[in-house]
This record gives sequence, structure tokens and C-alpha cells, in this order.
Amino acid sequence: MGPTKVVVEGNGLYDAVSGKLIKEGFASRHELEDYVNHHYLVLPVVDNAGRPWSLDGKPVYCLRGVQYETVSDERLHLARCPDCGGMGIRSDEFTVESDCIRCTACGHEFDARLEMMET
Ligand SMILES: [Zn+2]
Repeated sequence: MGPTKVVVEGNGLYDAVSGKLIKEGFASRHELEDYVNHHYLVLPVVDNAGRPWSLDGKPVYCLRGVQYETVSDERLHLARCPDCGGMGIRSDEFTVESDCIRCTACGHEFDARLEMMET
């Protein structure tokens, strides 16, 4: 079992699957993130500007720093754009040799394998 996936609404944290309230009344984003870091919770992925990634209108979660998943634990082939932190999707699903990722926010193209080697 991975961490509980949550969504933020107003100043409250909700279970992303059941929609159940986990905790509300956070005074700031910092306080909210602090709470998340000290519990077994994970927030949706956001880009460098703080905008959440959205795949078909649903939030995306990053587990263990490498694995991207949907709310329903479906594994996703995504990568973080090195420029803007936006969501990168494979530009060609059918090409096996290349692992070219295209950022949906700024259009930047990068190789997911190279990014992994650098980090
Ligand atoms: Zn980008």
C-alpha cells in the first residue's frame, strides 16, 4: 500500500478516492504541506508555477519520487519537464527505441532516460 492520495480544496485536505475530509483549517499552504509530510499522504503533482498536472482532468501523483500514478493507482509514463516542471508525456507511444517526452505546458521535448541519469 502506498501513501494516501489527497486533494486540496479551500483550506482542507480530502481523500482523493473517497472524497472524505482528512483535515481542514490550514492557515497556509506551508502548514498544509507540513501536515502532508508528517503523515502518510501525497499531494497532486504541481509544476514550478504551482499549477496542478492534469491528465484527462484528473490529478497525477508521484510516488517514491519516480513513479507517476492516477488516483486509481494506474501507472503512467510521464516525466517532469526540466524547464517549467510541467507534465511531460511520450510524444510517440509506438516508438520503442526512443523515449522522447514532450511537455504539455511549454512544448519542450526531452529524453526521459537522460533526465533520469542526471538525477
Ligand atoms: Zn515545460
